[in-house]
Amino acid sequence: MKKRILTGIRPTGNLHLGHLFGAVGNWVNLQNEYDIHIEIADVQALTDNFNNPKKVRDNVTQLVLDLLSVGIDPNKSTLFIQSQIPEIAELTVFYSNLVTVSRLERNPTVKTEIAQKKELFGNNGESITYGFLGYPISQAADITIFNGELIPVGEDQLPLIEQCREIVRKFNSIYGETLKEPTHLLSTTSRVKGLDGNEKMGKSLGNAIFLVDNDETISKKIMAAITDPNKIKKDDKANPNICMVYYYHQLVNKENLKTVCAECKNGTRGCVACKKELITKMNEFLQPIREKRKYYAENPDIVKEILEAGTKKSQQTAKENMKKIKKAMMIDY
Ligand code: SF4
Repeated sequence: MKKRILTGIRPTGNLHLGHLFGAVGNWVNLQNEYDIHIEIADVQALTDNFNNPKKVRDNVTQLVLDLLSVGIDPNKSTLFIQSQIPEIAELTVFYSNLVTVSRLERNPTVKTEIAQKKELFGNNGESITYGFLGYPISQAADITIFNGELIPVGEDQLPLIEQCREIVRKFNSIYGETLKEPTHLLSTTSRVKGLDGNEKMGKSLGNAIFLVDNDETISKKIMAAITDPNKIKKDDKANPNICMVYYYHQLVNKENLKTVCAECKNGTRGCVACKKELITKMNEFLQPIREKRKYYAENPDIVKEILEAGTKKSQQTAKENMKKIKKAMMIDY
């Protein structure tokens, strides 16, 4: 039996290179070895976008197209929509009795996000909703309703897994051994920097290369990328390690990397030519993804079938598990 991985992604925008080289590319590899379940976390997306449901709804399809185009294989992975599994919401309510408000407020991941919100909205946290504060509980429900054993996460999300494990232990100690305690699967990939050199690539930061970007957009973005500011003329010697163009060469132009590095250092490579080479390589890299995406976009029935099959399978698992949970809680009338 393959171990089950549970992971999820919020449908709030198109995928970019940060997603691909961070989490999603990893899932593509993991699906060969594990029984991977990928949740399209539309309910979780509503915690931040409750007043913009259209954005979430529209992005569900876009996200699924992106996932299929990068190689998520519906024969190996189960794709499902969170809102279509009512047991998750039900379990979230049950779990909410097992976690104190102060424990949620102490969760380092939540703390960081609250601090970011305060900075963004400039208030004392009035914008923090009950739903937002409780999202680690909802995540614990996501994981445990499907008996998720391994959860791929980055270092910054480890506190969420720990919180889930605490909930499982508390549940089992009160109601008897019912739930599986999940373990994290720490991602070996690191974050992809933005075009502006920011440590994080993000849509809201305006520094991302999206998988759906066409040749022209890619060209514009790369031509505007940050290079070594000390290199003015073509024959100036530069430091590729402080250049975002070189940074992306490392992702998509590995075969010519040594040459790019050496020519940059010894002043025999101009930045314009260097950027043009990167544009070509980036487009070559994205082309098969675009073609696959086009195929699925032109065949919406196939996409619908994939989502329906994955969701149906997940509904079945959730129903079976909920029966056991309710029995343990003595609410199986
Ligand atoms: Fe960056 Fe290339 Fe210019 Fe060197 S030559 S600074 S790697 S763009």
